[in-house]
Amino acid sequence: MSDSLDPPPALWQPGTPEYAEATAVFNLAAEVRPRAAVVARSVAEVRSAVRLAARSGRGLRTLGTGHAAGAVRPFDESLLLRTRLPGGVRVDADRRAAWVPAGTCWADVVAAAAPHGLAAVHGSSGGVGVVGYLLGGGVSFYGRRRGLAVNSLRAAELVVADGSVVTVTEADDPELLWALRGGGGGFGVVTAVEIDLFPAAEVFTGGCYWPGGAAAELLDGWSSWTGGAPRAATTSFRVMNLPELPGVPPVLAGRTVVCVDGAVAADDPAEARDAADGLLGPLRSLGEPLLDTWRGTGPEGVLLAHLDPPAPVPFVGDHLLLRDLAEGGVAAFLGVVGADSGSPLAVATLRQLGGAFAESGPPAALGRLDGQFAYMGSGPPVGPVTVSDLRAHGRAVRAALAGRDTGRTVPSLVESHDGPQRHLDGPTARAVRRVRERVDPEGLFGGDASPGSLP
Ligand SMILES: Cc1cc2nc3c(=O)[nH]c(=O)nc-3n(C[C@H](O)[C@H](O)[C@H](O)COP(=O)(O)OP(=O)(O)OC[C@H]3O[C@@H](n4cnc5c(N)ncnc54)[C@H](O)[C@@H]3O)c2cc1C
Repeated sequence: MSDSLDPPPALWQPGTPEYAEATAVFNLAAEVRPRAAVVARSVAEVRSAVRLAARSGRGLRTLGTGHAAGAVRPFDESLLLRTRLPGGVRVDADRRAAWVPAGTCWADVVAAAAPHGLAAVHGSSGGVGVVGYLLGGGVSFYGRRRGLAVNSLRAAELVVADGSVVTVTEADDPELLWALRGGGGGFGVVTAVEIDLFPAAEVFTGGCYWPGGAAAELLDGWSSWTGGAPRAATTSFRVMNLPELPGVPPVLAGRTVVCVDGAVAADDPAEARDAADGLLGPLRSLGEPLLDTWRGTGPEGVLLAHLDPPAPVPFVGDHLLLRDLAEGGVAAFLGVVGADSGSPLAVATLRQLGGAFAESGPPAALGRLDGQFAYMGSGPPVGPVTVSDLRAHGRAVRAALAGRDTGRTVPSLVESHDGPQRHLDGPTARAVRRVRERVDPEGLFGGDASPGSLP
């Protein structure tokens, strides 16, 4: 592509409605105030923006949906590029693959793949962006069978610091593909990815909700079950304090409830149903659920299981990878997030790991996770609850779970840029840095490199 073909990008300045639109993000508690903002609607516009940023001597930052806007580093004087690339999701059913332009959300991938009886290793929310989730690891309700989502990255198309477009594959640049897989970002602007799909005609999925008072028995039962659970099942245990909002079932609002949700996807639907019954049967016998949405459905039903907010909300949160919940873990967890704990969190989640999450896939900077559970907690800084309250509560959770904290984190689950985080060990982080230095010697994209991936 020649320079003359590149259209000049519109550079939106603070104070204009276009700037407000270009800097709007999913997390309403995040401060996104770059020097100026560009919305790229073609690869050529991405190239122009990269060159403009390089000429200006400022860093270039990239956001898709801004679901992680509270976790990325402050924008300072950098330029912001939003990706809204055209073309839509292209499914190649024979190769079980999908080509996905940057700016696409997972709901669009699920919708494109489902008619072929295929699914992708997406997260709980259809509104999350494909690129940010995928490059950050990606913890899916298919993960104990399929592994971290980053292992499903086959190829990426990237605009690098000199403005050129590179297609990164195992054959062309295995080192950069390795670094893109969980290396913490900051290599360039991804304009499209090619990902694996897998057969999933029917999935057993949903959530079962009980009053918060039953939390101890239910968490005991769920965590014991996770010890021998089939790989087809990936679930989470949640303590929720949901407000009355559109999309929140009234029976769950304004009180503490606990929930076991997730998905079971086996080759044989009957096997999936049996596996779900093996978990839910004993839990249901501990107490009458307030609501039970588990059912057999097409893969699109998995996006409804977790009750994620469909529209932007403010939140502040934290994340840990936990070794286990043995010997007092249940009491320690509920002591800080349970019904009588005074927790300001809207949701405190333990995601079930193990299975294929713990196994290596193709070469990846971060392709597997140690630890049995991923903790995520988040709450809205609204009403009497302040950002400081939520941060202080995050420290209390860390103190209560300190003995079980692996000290490691998953980029896609990190909720704050300045909290403790470490995705990679030292040698891996140094190897990732060498790849960054090769493709971006001036550090144009350095602001997007996750702090948890630095040596
Ligand atoms: C409601 C909700 C549900 C979630 N569920 C899950 C879940 O089930 N599993 C899970 O693992 N995570 C989950 N997450 C976390 C989510 O995966 C991360 O926030 C992820 O980073 C979001 O990606 P994004 O592109 O939408 O976000 P953004 O905030 O736009 O981007 C996140 C990061 O990706 C980088 N990035 C985005 N686009 C590009 C691009 N084109 N080129 C280069 N870099 C880019 C950005 O620079 C940034 O560092 C959830 C988050 C929320 C708020």
